[in-house]
Amino acid sequence: MSRQISVIHSLGFPRIGARRELKFALEKYWRDELGQAQLQQVARDLRARHWAQQAQAGLDYFTVGDFAFYDQVLDTSAMLGCVPARFRHAGGNLDLDTAFRMARGRAPTGADTDACEMTKWFDTNYHYLVPEFEVGQQFSLSSESLFEQVEEAQAQGYPVKAVILGPLTWLWLGKAQSGVDKLDLLDSLLPVYREILARLAAQGVEWLQIDEPALVLDLPPQWQQAYRRVYAELAQAGPKLLLASYFGALGDNLDTVLALPVHGLHIDAVRAPEQLVEVAERLGSDQVLSAGVINGRNIWRADLDALLQRLQPLHAQLQDRLWLAPSCSLLHVPVDLEQEEGLDAELGSWLAFAVQKLGELDLLRRALAGSSDAQVAALTAQRQALQARRRSRRIHKSAVRERAAGVTDAMARRACSYKERAQKQHERFALPLYPTTTIGSFPQTGAIRKARSQFRAGEIPGDTYRHRMEAAIAEAVFRQEKLGLDVLVHGEAERNDMVEYFGEQLEGFAFTRFGWVQSYGSRCVKPPIIYGDVSRLKPMTVEWAVYAQSLTGRPMKGMLTGPVTILQWSFVRDDQPRAETCLQIALALRDEVLDLERAGIGMIQIDEPALREGLPLRRAEWQDYLDWAVQAFRVTAAGVDDATQIHTHMCYAEFNDIIEAIAALDADVITIETSRSQMELLAAFEDYEYPNEIGPGVYDIHSPQLPETGHMVSLLQRAARNLPASRLWVNPDCGLKTRRWEEVEPALQRMVEAAQELRQQAA
Ligand code: GLN
Ligand code: ZN
Repeated sequence: MSRQISVIHSLGFPRIGARRELKFALEKYWRDELGQAQLQQVARDLRARHWAQQAQAGLDYFTVGDFAFYDQVLDTSAMLGCVPARFRHAGGNLDLDTAFRMARGRAPTGADTDACEMTKWFDTNYHYLVPEFEVGQQFSLSSESLFEQVEEAQAQGYPVKAVILGPLTWLWLGKAQSGVDKLDLLDSLLPVYREILARLAAQGVEWLQIDEPALVLDLPPQWQQAYRRVYAELAQAGPKLLLASYFGALGDNLDTVLALPVHGLHIDAVRAPEQLVEVAERLGSDQVLSAGVINGRNIWRADLDALLQRLQPLHAQLQDRLWLAPSCSLLHVPVDLEQEEGLDAELGSWLAFAVQKLGELDLLRRALAGSSDAQVAALTAQRQALQARRRSRRIHKSAVRERAAGVTDAMARRACSYKERAQKQHERFALPLYPTTTIGSFPQTGAIRKARSQFRAGEIPGDTYRHRMEAAIAEAVFRQEKLGLDVLVHGEAERNDMVEYFGEQLEGFAFTRFGWVQSYGSRCVKPPIIYGDVSRLKPMTVEWAVYAQSLTGRPMKGMLTGPVTILQWSFVRDDQPRAETCLQIALALRDEVLDLERAGIGMIQIDEPALREGLPLRRAEWQDYLDWAVQAFRVTAAGVDDATQIHTHMCYAEFNDIIEAIAALDADVITIETSRSQMELLAAFEDYEYPNEIGPGVYDIHSPQLPETGHMVSLLQRAARNLPASRLWVNPDCGLKTRRWEEVEPALQRMVEAAQELRQQAA
């Protein structure tokens, strides 16, 4: 007798399209080059194609509600009628342009309005629009879009499992005006959720996947209790509920979850495999367990043999109550590996994108039910690919491993303390008080981009390319000297991306052509794939830095992306801990730092804008992460002489909670974002005496507005109350590559004036 076959499903499919069709349609619509009806048609076509791809993979349920023109959290807010007053929504169904104004401040129709805030979705690189709760907040069903999509899928003959974001996670992610207690909002929110459920039930939807990823976070007890209340109420009417958590273990929320009267649980069995057995044991006899066993956050083929071994006892126990799925929505991986003609076959055989991951699910469930010859063959092929990967000489470099194993504490420590180094550095560079500098990049002009793309396409020879880059560097240096900046940068003309530039020159990295992943709205990123041991073949930035330094008598900063940021913004190998990969990158960069120093570059900046976003979701795991991340930075930086000045840069305001880790980097100078938060961050320095030099960003480079000299002076005066003026630098809050020279020059001119004024005051 053949065993019961498991249901397979996904939590969501990438919506942007294998060729980023949605991106291009959206951008045309925003430029008024495409009508709304045509935009809707593009969306329908994409949904139809994606459902067809899922049908081909043999999925039992089709997840409807995973599509969004901009963001699924925004769509949830729209559905619940949660539209901040400034958008002047009159009630009723929210129109598309108002939703776009919430997302980006503008749309083809309607007056420009300040957009909603955007922030990172858990620990991913996807950004959602933050819901806003105002005093007197009311909710009402304000979008038909989900129901229309359900109808659309049903008309195409697909059995639907709808998906919505659960009320508690949605509230958790929102921002309440003062005086508003988020949990108090449940009274008016739950009736709308009940209405949605009833509508779906009326449409004949059997299952509703209700996403509550907040369940993998540290939740206060009132929030844990709220889950019981909410789900007791929602379980009464409507479709069967599949409560989905992902991005980690339920941990101390497990008891809460197991007490909820839902029909099924989805759990992340990739991040927290140990949960599977316990949840299966404690599951109600009528509940299904959806095991998220295929990694939705990475691009590696799964080890199906290992999964089979783990799943067989569960399958014997649960039979058809065991469902199989990716760990989370496939939103976080590229669509289809099939398009990557450029990847070599060996590397390709190790990878799985969204479509391939669904194929793995199908194979897995068939194997669980008892294999036919065809499945045996497919499983064997997968096994062989994995074995080849484990043994590949492309991946495993003993020299790299030995070097990483031999890293000593001394390698991660500068020879002298900051105080002693500072003395030597001050003698060497003789900078004025309040030295001025910038963060690294200067405007990426049309000429620069053209030169890069022509060089890539093989249309211009290397010499021509080098001359054009040198011309861009010379122009940047000339302009900085004219402005009177004290410490210069070469401008990063040769980089289209601060991670890709290094990844392309390092061993162990690969790049795809279409491996796009949505970052926010129409924006996508194409993360490099770190597949093997990382090493540096030759210097990566030295020539540019040396050329730039040859043009000026002022100090020129060498400019590198740090190991944590390179790790964080890549798809990382799954066959060794992240910490180990990070250390390998650090060692490769350490060589670059030393080469720069040897070539006469006296200041070297190692950017770590992603340090904070690497923090684990659970507080208890922070320290371990910070320990290895800080260590990696220090290994990168610490090989230099006392008189070489190490800079770093980070661009986010909230770092009060990791300030000690930032100090532990022991960079001589850190430049940081502060201007948007009006030096709020400096409050951190009231309680904690930051020991080294610091350049709090004095103006927001993201704003098109020209900064006021007086404003910058007062910001720095405020900074000087918490930190000695002798340790303050003057700089914008981030790189300037997205701005035009016409904006950059007057802004920097005022910044230099501000520094001069402060020097006069001090004299
Ligand atoms: N050096 C980089 C630049 O100036 C830093 C970018 C960043 O912080 N994201 O562009
Ligand atoms: Zn920055």
